[in-house]
Amino acid sequence: MARKKRLLWQLYPPYLVITVVAMVVVTWYASRSLRHFFLDQTAGDLKARAHLLESQIQDHLDPIDEKELDAFCKSVGKRASSRVTIVLPSGKVVGDSEQDPSTMDSHLDRPEVMQALRGGSGVSIRYSRTLSKAMMYAGIPFKKHDQVAAVIRVSIPVDDIDAVIRNIQLRIAMGGLIIAVFAALISLLVSRQLTLPIEHIRRWAESITRGEFQFRPPVSGSEEITALSDAMNQMAVELRKRIDTIMRQRNEIEAVFSSMVEGVIAVDTEERIISLNNAAAEMFGCHLSEVQGRSIQEVVRNTVLQRFLRETLTSRKTVEKDIVLSSHGERVLNLHGNVLCDAEGSRIGAVVVLNDITRIHKLENIRREFVANVSHEIKTPITAIRGFVETLRNGAMRNPDDARRFLAIIEKHVERLQAIIEDLLSLSRIEQESEKGGIPLFKSNLRDVLKTAIQVCDLKATAKKIGIELTCEEDILVKIDPPLLEQAVVNLLDNAVKNSEAERKIRVEVARKDGEIIISVRDQGRGIAKEHLPRLFERFYRVDRSRNRQQGGTGLGLAIVKHIIQAHGGHLTVESEPGKGSTFTIHLPRT
Ligand code: ADP
Repeated sequence: MARKKRLLWQLYPPYLVITVVAMVVVTWYASRSLRHFFLDQTAGDLKARAHLLESQIQDHLDPIDEKELDAFCKSVGKRASSRVTIVLPSGKVVGDSEQDPSTMDSHLDRPEVMQALRGGSGVSIRYSRTLSKAMMYAGIPFKKHDQVAAVIRVSIPVDDIDAVIRNIQLRIAMGGLIIAVFAALISLLVSRQLTLPIEHIRRWAESITRGEFQFRPPVSGSEEITALSDAMNQMAVELRKRIDTIMRQRNEIEAVFSSMVEGVIAVDTEERIISLNNAAAEMFGCHLSEVQGRSIQEVVRNTVLQRFLRETLTSRKTVEKDIVLSSHGERVLNLHGNVLCDAEGSRIGAVVVLNDITRIHKLENIRREFVANVSHEIKTPITAIRGFVETLRNGAMRNPDDARRFLAIIEKHVERLQAIIEDLLSLSRIEQESEKGGIPLFKSNLRDVLKTAIQVCDLKATAKKIGIELTCEEDILVKIDPPLLEQAVVNLLDNAVKNSEAERKIRVEVARKDGEIIISVRDQGRGIAKEHLPRLFERFYRVDRSRNRQQGGTGLGLAIVKHIIQAHGGHLTVESEPGKGSTFTIHLPRT
């Protein structure tokens, strides 16, 4: 590509050329005119001189005295610094200030002589063979009785005229040169004057490109430059506004993007990461600063996700899949993939939205497990009842002792079924009410509720000679649902009685601590091994399955307690040591 010339160097040389050419033309024309003028003047002068000689040669021409005429020419020629020649109409030279006339040829062919002989005056510039130099001749006729008697010719060397003209031309040229230098300087200044504001505007445009909007050059120069500067200024203001808007929108999008709970990964068609948000970075344990532009294979080492992305990039519709991540504990992610298209609709990559569905997955598993557990729990008594009914029908009824025994067993199983159903119903009732917007709570006296619960369990406890002690201040008011809290405490007391040897003690204590009301039920029973504690509050979880069945437990008691306490905005904890006893603690928020 041809190298771009600066505007100054595009403007200045033409200016200079135009100035110099103009000066040369003017000088040439002026000197030409001057030469013409000068020659005209000289011709006039020569003619005037010739006329002055007319009267003086009259005497020597009538009759013609060649000697006198020649002498006259020589003396006048010397004084007038010009050549004076007198030619007769025959062409014969009779007098000449420079030469001997007898040696001179006929002058009839000389143009000035020819014109003078015709009656007018003649002027001619030509090379003189006689004197061997260029001369200017002027000839006039000398008339006698209207007849041309002689031609008086006066001439001077042209060299003299040319020397004067050259001198004048030299002066004009010198003047022209000085003017040309001035003109060149002025054109340089004008060019700079023109290009300087453009240079300013260029630098300004460059600063705008760098994002520096504050610098604004002083607006000066022609109307066009000022208009250009104003237009640029307007453009800079608009540009700044637009950039601000784009930045604000980008920040908003980034804020939304980074605060999203769902992970988002966008990749290009080469599977390089275009964008990845906080949630996705956290899911894959990578740093946001390191991922931009890197390939997804380097950043996320999960072959299922990589395959999913490849599938999304080639697919036409939304792709969905659940994957399991095991890098930071087991996490289940639900992936939704879609192709990314630009404004023209061509494919530029893919975007994947990742939902952490670990909790939903867990709940789903719990629900499935729960249904399986309920079925299993119900199946056992039903199978037993069915078996005994069959046995009775097949003849056992005829033996009254057997019949009574079997009926008693059937009754026990029915009671068990009833207990399971009642517990399930109360669990679902508590759950439903909590979901609906909470169980209505009333300020109630805690001591009264606890006393009623103890009374309910008293019969069972007394049968095992177990004493239940209550330590609670009289006037503790807590926001509760009294029947539900009573049921929770009854369940805990029932468990304590069931799991304690005879003649032990159970303590129910109430304390205020860290903004909580703490109700603890402490027994001196067999206690619970550590490995059972994390799952103890799950539905149908039992420490010792066969013993629990014998005791008539449903495995739902503690799950109900947990739900009741949660419905009160509190939580349940347990501490236990095998062989020494257990303490179940209800934490209620203080009113
Ligand atoms: P259930 O209603 O069948 O008693 P729970 O959910 O109340 O079921 O109890 C779950 C398990 O925890 C049972 O296996 C029970 O043996 C055990 N457990 C509950 N409370 C105590 C306690 N105070 N001491 C020892 N074991 C307990």
